[in-house]
Amino acid sequence: MFTPISGCAVLVTGGTRGIGKGIARVFAAAGARVAVTGRDAAGGEAAVRDLAGLAGEVVFLQGDVGVEADRSRVAAETVDRLGGLDVLCANAGVFPSATLAEMTEQDLDEILAVNVKGTMLMVRDCVPALERSGRGRVVITSSITGPVTGYPGWSHYGATKAAQLGFMRTAAMELAPKGITVNAVLPGNVATEGLDELGEDYLRQMEESIPLRRLGAVEDIGNACLFLATVEAGYITGQTIVVDGGQVLPESLQALQSI
Ligand code: NAP
Repeated sequence: MFTPISGCAVLVTGGTRGIGKGIARVFAAAGARVAVTGRDAAGGEAAVRDLAGLAGEVVFLQGDVGVEADRSRVAAETVDRLGGLDVLCANAGVFPSATLAEMTEQDLDEILAVNVKGTMLMVRDCVPALERSGRGRVVITSSITGPVTGYPGWSHYGATKAAQLGFMRTAAMELAPKGITVNAVLPGNVATEGLDELGEDYLRQMEESIPLRRLGAVEDIGNACLFLATVEAGYITGQTIVVDGGQVLPESLQALQSI
């Protein structure tokens, strides 16, 4: 039995839809007080309405993780609204597609600004509050793409998701004396609004490449985040959990088709 997370203060960046909303739902269902962020205020308010009625309250804080002033304001407002901060789920991220041949410098700058700088500097801005918590937790949403696998069109995306893990390992060391753990979840293909935008063909092809024969649910990722946020996971830091239905396992197409 894990120590209840109820009453903990949790910030989920990019928590207004997709995986982040699933993380928020799992934590709020367990009684945590949750702040979700996103750029779009209407989407944020809609997410709060959807997540109402769970054991813990959910509030929306508008902000872009790619903008310095937004990050520091969101960190401060989280503490004001929730009375502190115990868990940061650094989840906000984008996954536009561009092959290396067509990629512009601007494409690269834009994805680095959100996925790498947005993650690293959001963590930095939350450290004082996480340290005051005495049981601070950071859980980064990386991906199998980059750290484990490749996919044409996502060399820049894969680079950002691998960069998050490079950041995580040193951040975990630097923040250990402050009692803060830093870990990452690596989702495979999870059914989200963002993934839907890649089209039906992509979704079917992915489903067929997963040994468990289904796309991940956002709550599958939320549950892994919840585990890493527990008191009992307090001795785990600088580590990754792949949550992908076994997608990275088959050595070959034949291996996959033989099951
Ligand atoms: P999604 O459905 O597109 O949702 C993205 C969320 O992030 C939204 O709440 C969005 O709200 C917010 N967001 C985007 N850019 C932001 C910014 N600059 N500042 C603040 N919030 C921002 O995406 P998802 O599929 O849930 O993916 C979430 C995370 O999981 C990403 O880091 C992604 O790389 C990772 N991931 C996803 C999958 C998958 O299969 N879905 C697999 C592996 C990893 P606004 O648009 O209102 O800002």
